[in-house]
Amino acid sequence: TGTAAGPGSGTGTAARPVTRPAAGPAARRAVVTGGAGFVGSHLCDRLRAQGTEVVCVDNLLTGSLDNLADRAGDPGFTLRRHDVCEPFDVDGPVDLVVHLASPASPHDYARHPVETLRAGAHGTHNALELARRKGARFLLTSTSEVYGDPLVHPQPETYWGNVNPIGPRSQYDEAKRYAEALTTAYRTARGTDTVIVRLFNTYGPRMRPTDGRAVPAFITQALAGRPLTVAGDGSQTRSLCHVDDTVAGILAAAAAGHPGPINLGNPAELTILQLAHRIRALCGSASPVEFVERPGDDPSLRRPDITLARTALGWQPAVGTDPGLAATIAWFARRPVGVGA
Ligand code: NAD
Ligand code: UDP
Repeated sequence: TGTAAGPGSGTGTAARPVTRPAAGPAARRAVVTGGAGFVGSHLCDRLRAQGTEVVCVDNLLTGSLDNLADRAGDPGFTLRRHDVCEPFDVDGPVDLVVHLASPASPHDYARHPVETLRAGAHGTHNALELARRKGARFLLTSTSEVYGDPLVHPQPETYWGNVNPIGPRSQYDEAKRYAEALTTAYRTARGTDTVIVRLFNTYGPRMRPTDGRAVPAFITQALAGRPLTVAGDGSQTRSLCHVDDTVAGILAAAAAGHPGPINLGNPAELTILQLAHRIRALCGSASPVEFVERPGDDPSLRRPDITLARTALGWQPAVGTDPGLAATIAWFARRPVGVGA
Protein backbone atom coordinates (compact mmCIF):
# COMPACT_ATOMS: atom_id res chain seq x y z
CA THR A 1 0.00 0.00 0.00
CA GLY A 2 1.04 3.62 -0.24
CA THR A 3 2.91 5.48 2.46
CA ALA A 4 0.59 6.07 5.36
CA ALA A 5 -0.45 9.68 5.72
CA GLY A 6 -0.93 11.17 9.13
CA PRO A 7 -4.06 12.88 10.36
CA GLY A 8 -4.67 16.39 9.13
CA SER A 9 -3.05 15.60 5.83
CA GLY A 10 -4.15 18.73 4.04
CA THR A 11 -6.25 18.46 0.93
CA GLY A 12 -5.32 14.84 0.31
CA THR A 13 -7.70 11.96 0.57
CA ALA A 14 -8.22 11.18 4.25
CA ALA A 15 -5.61 8.72 5.50
CA ARG A 16 -6.96 5.20 5.84
CA PRO A 17 -5.65 1.77 5.00
CA VAL A 18 -6.11 0.86 1.36
CA THR A 19 -8.02 -2.36 1.03
CA ARG A 20 -7.36 -4.60 -1.94
CA PRO A 21 -9.76 -7.10 -3.47
CA ALA A 22 -8.73 -10.67 -3.97
CA ALA A 23 -6.48 -10.62 -7.03
CA GLY A 24 -4.42 -13.11 -8.95
CA PRO A 25 -0.99 -14.14 -7.69
CA ALA A 26 1.83 -11.62 -8.06
CA ALA A 27 3.80 -11.92 -11.30
CA ARG A 28 6.88 -14.13 -11.08
CA ARG A 29 8.80 -12.36 -13.84
CA ALA A 30 8.00 -8.91 -15.21
CA VAL A 31 9.40 -6.77 -18.01
CA VAL A 32 9.20 -3.05 -17.21
CA THR A 33 9.86 -0.69 -20.12
CA GLY A 34 10.88 2.77 -18.89
CA GLY A 35 11.96 1.25 -15.58
CA ALA A 36 14.84 3.74 -15.14
CA GLY A 37 12.40 6.65 -15.05
CA PHE A 38 10.60 8.30 -12.17
CA VAL A 39 7.48 6.08 -11.92
CA GLY A 40 9.16 3.02 -13.45
CA SER A 41 12.01 2.87 -10.95
CA HIS A 42 9.59 2.96 -8.01
CA LEU A 43 7.59 0.20 -9.73
CA CYS A 44 10.75 -1.91 -10.16
CA ASP A 45 11.55 -1.49 -6.46
CA ARG A 46 8.03 -2.53 -5.43
CA LEU A 47 7.99 -5.52 -7.78
CA ARG A 48 11.30 -6.70 -6.33
CA ALA A 49 9.97 -6.18 -2.79
CA GLN A 50 7.09 -8.56 -3.57
CA GLY A 51 9.51 -11.14 -4.99
CA THR A 52 8.96 -10.56 -8.72
CA GLU A 53 12.04 -10.91 -10.93
CA VAL A 54 12.36 -7.77 -13.08
CA VAL A 55 13.86 -7.11 -16.50
CA CYS A 56 13.96 -3.35 -17.07
CA VAL A 57 14.22 -2.14 -20.68
CA ASP A 58 15.23 1.50 -20.98
CA ASN A 59 17.37 3.65 -23.28
CA LEU A 60 17.89 6.33 -20.60
CA LEU A 61 16.41 9.06 -22.86
CA THR A 62 14.77 10.75 -19.87
CA GLY A 63 15.59 8.22 -17.13
CA SER A 64 18.71 7.79 -15.05
CA LEU A 65 20.88 5.08 -13.53
CA ASP A 66 20.67 7.07 -10.26
CA ASN A 67 17.03 5.99 -10.03
CA LEU A 68 18.14 2.35 -9.98
CA ALA A 69 20.82 2.77 -7.31
CA ASP A 70 18.84 0.60 -4.89
CA ARG A 71 18.86 -2.22 -7.44
CA ALA A 72 22.67 -2.38 -7.69
CA GLY A 73 23.82 -5.94 -7.02
CA ASP A 74 20.24 -7.26 -6.97
CA PRO A 75 20.37 -10.69 -8.70
CA GLY A 76 16.62 -10.52 -9.43
CA PHE A 77 16.97 -7.32 -11.44
CA THR A 78 18.40 -6.83 -14.93
CA LEU A 79 18.74 -3.59 -16.90
CA ARG A 80 18.68 -3.85 -20.70
CA ARG A 81 19.72 -0.59 -22.35
CA HIS A 82 17.54 -0.68 -25.43
CA ASP A 83 15.25 1.60 -27.43
CA VAL A 84 11.81 -0.06 -27.30
CA CYS A 85 11.06 1.37 -30.75
CA GLU A 86 13.32 -1.45 -32.01
CA PRO A 87 11.96 -4.99 -31.55
CA PHE A 88 13.27 -6.85 -28.52
CA ASP A 89 12.97 -10.24 -26.91
CA VAL A 90 13.63 -11.55 -23.42
CA ASP A 91 14.84 -15.08 -22.68
CA GLY A 92 12.67 -17.26 -20.49
CA PRO A 93 9.12 -16.91 -19.22
CA VAL A 94 7.49 -13.52 -18.62
CA ASP A 95 4.03 -13.17 -17.07
CA LEU A 96 3.73 -9.36 -16.94
CA VAL A 97 4.83 -6.58 -19.30
CA VAL A 98 4.42 -3.03 -17.99
CA HIS A 99 4.95 -0.44 -20.71
CA LEU A 100 5.98 2.96 -19.35
CA ALA A 101 8.73 3.93 -21.81
CA SER A 102 7.94 7.41 -23.12
CA PRO A 103 9.02 10.96 -22.41
CA ALA A 104 6.36 12.22 -19.98
CA SER A 105 6.93 15.82 -18.89
CA PRO A 106 5.76 18.62 -21.22
CA HIS A 107 9.38 19.86 -21.49
CA ASP A 108 10.63 16.39 -22.38
CA TYR A 109 8.04 15.65 -25.03
CA ALA A 110 8.46 19.13 -26.51
CA ARG A 111 12.20 18.39 -26.86
CA HIS A 112 11.56 14.88 -28.23
CA PRO A 113 8.34 15.04 -30.27
CA VAL A 114 9.21 12.34 -32.80
CA GLU A 115 10.71 10.04 -30.15
CA THR A 116 7.51 10.47 -28.11
CA LEU A 117 5.27 9.51 -31.02
CA ARG A 118 7.54 6.57 -31.84
CA ALA A 119 7.53 5.36 -28.22
CA GLY A 120 3.73 5.43 -28.23
CA ALA A 121 3.47 3.72 -31.61
CA HIS A 122 6.47 1.42 -32.29
CA GLY A 123 7.39 1.06 -28.60
CA THR A 124 3.87 0.01 -27.66
CA HIS A 125 3.73 -2.37 -30.63
CA ASN A 126 7.00 -4.06 -29.64
CA ALA A 127 5.98 -4.32 -25.98
CA LEU A 128 2.59 -5.76 -26.97
CA GLU A 129 4.29 -8.26 -29.30
CA LEU A 130 6.52 -9.41 -26.43
CA ALA A 131 3.45 -9.89 -24.21
CA ARG A 132 1.62 -11.77 -26.97
CA ARG A 133 4.57 -14.12 -27.62
CA LYS A 134 5.05 -14.81 -23.91
CA GLY A 135 1.35 -15.11 -23.07
CA ALA A 136 1.92 -12.34 -20.50
CA ARG A 137 -0.50 -9.74 -19.18
CA PHE A 138 0.23 -6.32 -20.69
CA LEU A 139 -0.27 -3.06 -18.82
CA LEU A 140 -0.16 0.28 -20.65
CA THR A 141 0.49 3.42 -18.61
CA SER A 142 -1.66 5.90 -20.45
CA THR A 143 -2.38 9.37 -19.16
CA SER A 144 -5.00 11.92 -18.20
CA GLU A 145 -3.69 13.82 -21.24
CA VAL A 146 -5.96 11.63 -23.40
CA TYR A 147 -8.73 13.89 -22.04
CA GLY A 148 -6.89 16.95 -23.44
CA ASP A 149 -8.33 20.24 -22.15
CA PRO A 150 -11.41 18.55 -20.73
CA LEU A 151 -14.95 19.80 -21.19
CA VAL A 152 -16.19 17.32 -18.56
CA HIS A 153 -15.06 17.71 -14.96
CA PRO A 154 -14.05 15.58 -13.11
CA GLN A 155 -13.00 13.17 -15.84
CA PRO A 156 -14.53 9.67 -15.93
CA GLU A 157 -13.09 6.99 -18.20
CA THR A 158 -16.18 7.27 -20.42
CA TYR A 159 -15.21 10.81 -21.49
CA TRP A 160 -13.58 10.82 -24.96
CA GLY A 161 -11.58 13.99 -24.45
CA ASN A 162 -10.87 17.30 -26.13
CA VAL A 163 -7.45 17.01 -27.80
CA ASN A 164 -5.83 19.28 -30.39
CA PRO A 165 -4.25 16.81 -32.86
CA ILE A 166 -1.63 19.29 -34.11
CA GLY A 167 -1.04 21.38 -30.98
CA PRO A 168 2.08 21.69 -28.77
CA ARG A 169 1.03 18.67 -26.66
CA SER A 170 -0.25 16.56 -29.56
CA GLN A 171 2.87 14.38 -29.85
CA TYR A 172 2.18 13.05 -26.35
CA ASP A 173 -1.62 13.04 -26.29
CA GLU A 174 -2.03 11.40 -29.68
CA ALA A 175 0.79 8.91 -29.04
CA LYS A 176 -1.04 7.74 -25.93
CA ARG A 177 -4.41 7.70 -27.67
CA TYR A 178 -2.88 5.55 -30.44
CA ALA A 179 -1.25 3.33 -27.81
CA GLU A 180 -4.65 2.83 -26.18
CA ALA A 181 -6.20 1.94 -29.55
CA LEU A 182 -3.38 -0.50 -30.35
CA THR A 183 -3.66 -2.12 -26.93
CA THR A 184 -7.40 -2.51 -27.47
CA ALA A 185 -6.79 -4.06 -30.92
CA TYR A 186 -4.33 -6.59 -29.46
CA ARG A 187 -6.93 -7.52 -26.86
CA THR A 188 -9.73 -8.01 -29.38
CA ALA A 189 -7.83 -9.30 -32.44
CA ARG A 190 -4.77 -11.05 -30.94
CA GLY A 191 -6.22 -12.33 -27.67
CA THR A 192 -3.57 -10.61 -25.54
CA ASP A 193 -4.55 -10.05 -21.90
CA THR A 194 -4.29 -6.27 -21.55
CA VAL A 195 -5.13 -3.46 -19.16
CA ILE A 196 -4.93 0.29 -19.70
CA VAL A 197 -4.43 2.64 -16.75
CA ARG A 198 -4.63 6.42 -17.14
CA LEU A 199 -2.23 8.03 -14.70
CA PHE A 200 -2.98 11.53 -13.47
CA ASN A 201 -0.22 13.89 -12.27
CA THR A 202 2.14 11.90 -10.09
CA TYR A 203 4.87 13.38 -7.89
CA GLY A 204 7.49 12.19 -5.43
CA PRO A 205 11.18 11.43 -4.98
CA ARG A 206 13.26 10.89 -8.17
CA MET A 207 11.50 13.52 -10.25
CA ARG A 208 14.19 15.34 -12.21
CA PRO A 209 14.61 18.87 -10.82
CA THR A 210 14.86 20.20 -14.37
CA ASP A 211 12.05 18.21 -15.99
CA GLY A 212 9.92 21.38 -16.08
CA ARG A 213 6.97 19.98 -14.15
CA ALA A 214 5.35 22.19 -11.52
CA VAL A 215 6.25 20.14 -8.42
CA PRO A 216 10.03 19.82 -9.00
CA ALA A 217 10.18 23.37 -10.40
CA PHE A 218 8.47 24.94 -7.38
CA ILE A 219 10.40 22.84 -4.86
CA THR A 220 13.82 23.62 -6.33
CA GLN A 221 12.89 27.30 -6.69
CA ALA A 222 11.56 27.55 -3.12
CA LEU A 223 14.58 25.75 -1.63
CA ALA A 224 16.94 28.07 -3.54
CA GLY A 225 15.00 31.21 -2.60
CA ARG A 226 14.28 31.92 -6.29
CA PRO A 227 10.88 33.09 -7.59
CA LEU A 228 8.24 30.41 -8.13
CA THR A 229 7.30 30.52 -11.82
CA VAL A 230 3.50 30.25 -11.92
CA ALA A 231 2.12 29.97 -15.47
CA GLY A 232 -0.72 32.34 -16.38
CA ASP A 233 -2.70 33.47 -13.34
CA GLY A 234 -2.29 30.05 -11.70
CA SER A 235 -6.04 29.34 -11.70
CA GLN A 236 -5.63 26.13 -13.74
CA THR A 237 -5.96 23.01 -11.60
CA ARG A 238 -4.23 19.67 -11.20
CA SER A 239 -4.82 16.75 -8.84
CA LEU A 240 -1.58 15.35 -7.45
CA CYS A 241 -1.02 11.70 -6.64
CA HIS A 242 1.99 10.48 -4.66
CA VAL A 243 4.11 7.96 -6.57
CA ASP A 244 3.65 5.30 -3.84
CA ASP A 245 -0.09 5.43 -4.47
CA THR A 246 0.31 5.42 -8.26
CA VAL A 247 2.56 2.36 -8.10
CA ALA A 248 0.12 0.59 -5.74
CA GLY A 249 -2.61 1.28 -8.31
CA ILE A 250 -0.49 -0.06 -11.18
CA LEU A 251 0.20 -3.27 -9.23
CA ALA A 252 -3.49 -3.64 -8.35
CA ALA A 253 -4.44 -3.23 -12.02
CA ALA A 254 -1.74 -5.71 -13.06
CA ALA A 255 -3.09 -8.31 -10.63
CA ALA A 256 -6.78 -7.80 -11.47
CA GLY A 257 -8.56 -9.04 -14.57
CA HIS A 258 -10.10 -5.74 -15.64
CA PRO A 259 -9.16 -4.43 -19.13
CA GLY A 260 -9.59 -0.76 -18.23
CA PRO A 261 -9.14 1.98 -19.03
CA ILE A 262 -8.93 2.82 -15.32
CA ASN A 263 -8.09 6.28 -13.96
CA LEU A 264 -5.37 6.26 -11.29
CA GLY A 265 -5.03 9.58 -9.51
CA ASN A 266 -5.78 11.51 -6.38
CA PRO A 267 -9.01 13.54 -6.64
CA ALA A 268 -7.58 16.22 -4.30
CA GLU A 269 -7.62 19.20 -6.68
CA LEU A 270 -5.51 22.34 -6.31
CA THR A 271 -5.02 25.45 -8.40
CA ILE A 272 -1.42 25.86 -9.47
CA LEU A 273 -1.21 29.08 -7.44
CA GLN A 274 -2.41 27.17 -4.35
CA LEU A 275 0.23 24.52 -5.09
CA ALA A 276 2.96 27.17 -5.29
CA HIS A 277 1.86 28.70 -1.97
CA ARG A 278 1.64 25.27 -0.35
CA ILE A 279 5.15 24.27 -1.46
CA ARG A 280 6.58 27.63 -0.44
CA ALA A 281 5.06 27.28 3.04
CA LEU A 282 6.23 23.67 3.46
CA CYS A 283 9.76 24.73 2.44
CA GLY A 284 9.68 27.64 4.89
CA SER A 285 10.70 29.80 1.94
CA ALA A 286 10.21 33.53 1.36
CA SER A 287 10.43 33.17 -2.44
CA PRO A 288 8.10 35.49 -4.35
CA VAL A 289 5.69 34.23 -7.01
CA GLU A 290 6.52 35.28 -10.57
CA PHE A 291 3.74 34.97 -13.14
CA VAL A 292 5.08 33.67 -16.46
CA GLU A 293 3.54 32.93 -19.84
CA ARG A 294 1.20 29.98 -19.89
CA PRO A 295 2.06 27.26 -22.43
CA GLY A 296 -0.31 26.63 -25.35
CA ASP A 297 -3.12 24.11 -24.87
CA ASP A 298 -2.32 23.84 -21.14
CA PRO A 299 -5.39 22.05 -19.69
CA SER A 300 -7.45 24.36 -17.46
CA LEU A 301 -8.94 21.74 -15.15
CA ARG A 302 -7.92 18.22 -14.26
CA ARG A 303 -9.34 15.90 -11.65
CA PRO A 304 -9.89 12.15 -11.88
CA ASP A 305 -13.14 10.38 -11.22
CA ILE A 306 -11.77 7.25 -9.50
CA THR A 307 -15.04 5.43 -8.94
CA LEU A 308 -13.91 2.61 -11.24
CA ALA A 309 -10.53 2.16 -9.53
CA ARG A 310 -12.27 2.06 -6.16
CA THR A 311 -14.81 -0.57 -7.23
CA ALA A 312 -12.81 -2.68 -9.71
CA LEU A 313 -9.45 -2.61 -7.90
CA GLY A 314 -10.34 -1.62 -4.33
CA TRP A 315 -7.68 1.06 -4.82
CA GLN A 316 -7.64 4.62 -3.63
CA PRO A 317 -4.82 6.98 -2.74
CA ALA A 318 -3.61 6.93 0.86
CA VAL A 319 -1.04 9.74 0.87
CA GLY A 320 -2.34 13.22 1.68
CA THR A 321 -1.05 16.16 -0.31
CA ASP A 322 0.77 17.92 2.53
CA PRO A 323 2.64 14.88 3.93
CA GLY A 324 3.41 13.72 0.40
CA LEU A 325 4.79 17.10 -0.62
CA ALA A 326 6.72 17.41 2.68
CA ALA A 327 8.40 14.03 2.11
CA THR A 328 9.21 14.99 -1.48
CA ILE A 329 10.68 18.31 -0.37
CA ALA A 330 12.82 16.46 2.19
CA TRP A 331 14.11 14.19 -0.58
CA PHE A 332 14.97 17.16 -2.84
CA ALA A 333 16.67 18.93 0.06
CA ARG A 334 18.89 15.86 0.68
CA ARG A 335 19.91 15.47 -2.96
CA PRO A 336 23.43 16.51 -3.86
CA VAL A 337 23.08 19.60 -6.06
CA GLY A 338 23.45 18.77 -9.76
CA VAL A 339 22.69 15.04 -9.60
CA GLY A 340 20.25 14.08 -12.32
CA ALA A 341 19.79 17.71 -13.31
P1 NAD B 1 10.19 9.45 -17.05
O1 NAD B 1 10.62 10.30 -18.18
O2 NAD B 1 10.83 9.65 -15.72
O3 NAD B 1 10.33 7.90 -17.41
C1 NAD B 1 10.19 7.42 -18.72
C2 NAD B 1 11.29 6.37 -18.95
O4 NAD B 1 11.13 5.84 -20.27
C3 NAD B 1 12.69 6.95 -18.86
O5 NAD B 1 13.50 6.14 -18.05
C4 NAD B 1 13.17 6.96 -20.31
O6 NAD B 1 14.56 6.84 -20.43
C5 NAD B 1 12.41 5.77 -20.87
N1 NAD B 1 12.23 5.82 -22.32
C6 NAD B 1 11.71 6.82 -23.06
N2 NAD B 1 11.69 6.49 -24.36
C7 NAD B 1 12.22 5.23 -24.43
C8 NAD B 1 12.48 4.33 -25.51
N3 NAD B 1 12.18 4.65 -26.78
N4 NAD B 1 13.03 3.13 -25.23
C9 NAD B 1 13.32 2.79 -23.96
N5 NAD B 1 13.10 3.60 -22.90
C10 NAD B 1 12.56 4.81 -23.14
O7 NAD B 1 8.60 9.63 -16.96
P2 NAD B 1 7.58 9.15 -15.81
O8 NAD B 1 7.01 10.35 -15.20
O9 NAD B 1 8.23 8.11 -14.96
O10 NAD B 1 6.45 8.48 -16.71
C11 NAD B 1 6.43 7.08 -16.92
C12 NAD B 1 5.19 6.71 -17.71
O11 NAD B 1 4.01 7.09 -17.00
C13 NAD B 1 5.10 7.38 -19.08
O12 NAD B 1 4.60 6.45 -20.02
C14 NAD B 1 4.11 8.48 -18.86
O13 NAD B 1 3.42 8.78 -20.05
C15 NAD B 1 3.18 7.89 -17.82
N6 NAD B 1 2.55 8.94 -17.02
C16 NAD B 1 3.24 9.61 -16.06
C17 NAD B 1 2.63 10.63 -15.34
C18 NAD B 1 3.35 11.40 -14.27
O14 NAD B 1 2.74 12.31 -13.68
N7 NAD B 1 4.60 11.12 -13.98
C19 NAD B 1 1.29 10.96 -15.61
C20 NAD B 1 0.63 10.28 -16.63
C21 NAD B 1 1.27 9.24 -17.31
N1 UDP C 1 3.42 25.08 -14.34
C1 UDP C 1 3.74 26.27 -13.75
N2 UDP C 1 5.07 26.54 -13.51
C2 UDP C 1 6.06 25.68 -13.82
C3 UDP C 1 5.72 24.44 -14.39
C4 UDP C 1 4.40 24.17 -14.66
O1 UDP C 1 2.86 27.08 -13.44
O2 UDP C 1 7.24 26.00 -13.56
C5 UDP C 1 2.01 24.79 -14.60
C6 UDP C 1 1.71 24.26 -16.01
O3 UDP C 1 1.52 25.35 -16.91
C7 UDP C 1 0.44 23.49 -15.77
C8 UDP C 1 0.62 22.94 -14.35
O4 UDP C 1 1.61 23.77 -13.73
O5 UDP C 1 -0.67 24.36 -15.78
C9 UDP C 1 1.08 21.50 -14.31
O6 UDP C 1 2.19 21.39 -15.15
P1 UDP C 1 3.10 20.08 -15.18
O7 UDP C 1 4.11 20.27 -16.23
O8 UDP C 1 3.57 19.74 -13.81
O9 UDP C 1 2.08 18.92 -15.57
P2 UDP C 1 1.01 18.75 -16.75
O10 UDP C 1 0.84 20.05 -17.46
O11 UDP C 1 1.60 17.70 -17.61
O12 UDP C 1 -0.22 18.37 -16.05
